[in-house]
Formats: sequence, structure tokens, C-alpha cells
Amino acid sequence: MRQVELAATASPALVAAAAALRSHCQVVITSHVNPDGDAIGSVLGLARALADAHYDVRAALQDPVPFRYRSLPDQDILCAAPLTASAAGLVVLLECPTFERAGNVLSLEQVRRAGATVLNVDHHSDNTRYGDIDFVDLSAAATGQLVLALLDELAVPVTPSVAANLYAAVLTDTGSFQHGNVTADVLRTAARLVDLGADPHALAREIYQVNPAGRLKLMAVVLQSLALSVDGKVASLLVTKEMLRECGAVPADTEDFANLARSVDGVQIGLLVRQTDGDASKISLRSYGDIDVQQVARVFGGGGHRNAAGATVAGSADSARLQVLDVLFHFFGFR
Ligand code: 5GP
Ligand code: MN
Repeated sequence: MRQVELAATASPALVAAAAALRSHCQVVITSHVNPDGDAIGSVLGLARALADAHYDVRAALQDPVPFRYRSLPDQDILCAAPLTASAAGLVVLLECPTFERAGNVLSLEQVRRAGATVLNVDHHSDNTRYGDIDFVDLSAAATGQLVLALLDELAVPVTPSVAANLYAAVLTDTGSFQHGNVTADVLRTAARLVDLGADPHALAREIYQVNPAGRLKLMAVVLQSLALSVDGKVASLLVTKEMLRECGAVPADTEDFANLARSVDGVQIGLLVRQTDGDASKISLRSYGDIDVQQVARVFGGGGHRNAAGATVAGSADSARLQVLDVLFHFFGFR
């Protein structure tokens, strides 16, 4: 009865995505570079569920799983990049607004040459619909919700470990159920995943309440760089390679630092600028409500969501900070 209800409400895109999975048994799965909880939880959840349902699954991520996601189950399903597609295969990109966001895990040229089918499952508004099948739902708070809908549509069982990974995806992409994307539907999905075996306390503790010492040392140093601009409406933080080295921290330890910038009283936009290898910097932007930082990230070739976006900017951290402040002034009339 439940299956009939779900099938009756499935969107055409969901039906097409499920049909693609029904007609392929070899599936290659990946997500974006610098993977976050939604990317990792979605990949692990889908890969494990399909493998349990006797699919031939290969899954990989370009970059390592960050410390805070170390306890997510089923990580042994990840294999080394790159992945290669075969003619009979389905290539599933989760949480990637463009094919290129998967980094060096997949080559579009190889996928096309092999004649594989590309399934694009995502919730980013700047998704370019690059798939042969596009299951893109902007109303989803996390790609993990779309993976759950897909498993339901396929009538593939959601085991406790799959539920844990999908719960982690929803937990992290809603900022622990604090962001503007939290709806009753999201909370019902989370509750259902708990019913299916996800442990909300254990997951929250492992993901948020245990820090490597280097991350806390880095936080102390980075907070010293706090600068307010535009009548206190923009707060920025800088991370240099030297700071990372001195604190024994890694780039992934800076996750959520942009939220710290945004948390300053009166601030509307939080900016984190992190020097990367070479003369380039990674920026992370966080805003509230109607302030659309995705359009700022797009100026620099990046993207994301309205209230959380990022890009890579040419130049040192200081130079990148000034460039971003200029664009913020241009868009929002403040500097
Ligand atoms: P973060 O600032 O935490 O790296 O990312 C925030 C949001 O922006 C996420 O949805 C992330 O996928 C997206 N994002 C970050 N960097 C880039 C980028 O360089 N290109 C694109 N297209 N999206 C990005
Ligand atoms: Mn996401």
C-alpha cells in the first residue's frame, strides 16, 4: 500500500531515474571534490543499498573523507579513483551541479566514448542538466533525500547503515536542522531515517562534537583574522597555508568557519578565504534569507546555494578577499 502511494506521487524525473537504475546492473557512483556530508552520505548510502540489491557497484570520491565523517558506515565500499565507465554502465553523479565538479574521478570524454548513460541527481539551483537523465529537485534540502526517494521508488530496502548515511546527508546539509531549508517534510524524512535505524545522537556527536586538536588550534588563529567591512555587514576570515602548517591542520578542518564569520552580531554575509596550493584561494560565502551569495560565487566560476556558496579565486588570500568584497559591493551596495 505504501509503495503504491509513493509511486503515485513520484515526479517524472524520479520515475526516469528509477527506470535508468532498473535497466542497468553496472553502476558507477561519485560526487563532488572536497566532499561534504551530503556528498559522502549520498554516495555511501546509494552504493551500499544498490550493492545489497546485487548491483555491480563501483563508487569513488576524488578527495579523502574528512575527519568529521570518519565514523560513517560502509566506507569500505569506496574504491580508488579514477573510475571508468562501460557501455552497459550507468554513471551516477550525486550532488554535482556540473559534470566537472566530480573532479578527476571521471573523464567526460571516457564516459562518452564508452557510451555509458549519465544520471544526474542533485538539488543545486545552478545544475546545468548535463545528464542523459536529470533528477534535479531544487526543493530538496539535501541530495540524500533524493537518494532515499530513488531507493523507495525502486523498492530497494533501506538498511540501518544506509539510513545512517542518508541521515548524515540531511543533518549536515541543513546545518543540524538550523538552515532555511528545514521544512516539516525534511523533519519527517529525518524521523523516517531514524525509524529505519539511523542513530541521531551518535551521528551528531561523531560529526560535530569531536574535533581534531589541530582544528581548534587553527580556529583560535583564524579568529584573530576576523575583519568587519561595510558597516559591520560582512565578516571575513583568512586561512593561510602557514596557519594550517603551524596548527597541524588540514584544509577540511576549516569546514563551517564561514558560519563563524556569519555568526557575528549584525553580519549578513560571512566570508572565509583559504589560500590553496599555487597562487589561488578557495572562498566560502554564507548569508541569510534573500541575500544570494551564489551569484557572487558565480562571478568567480563557482556556485552553490543561495545562502551557502563557494569558488576558487586567483590570487593570495588577501587579494581574493579584496576581490570578493568588491563584488559584494557591486551586488549588494556595500563594501
Ligand atoms: P563550501 O563553501 O562549504 O565549500 O561550499 C558551499 C556550497 O557551495 C556547497 O554547495 C558547495 O558544493 C558549493 N561550492 C563550493 N565551492 C564550489 C565551486 O568551486 N564550484 C561550485 N560549482 N560550487 C561550489
Ligand atoms: Mn547538498
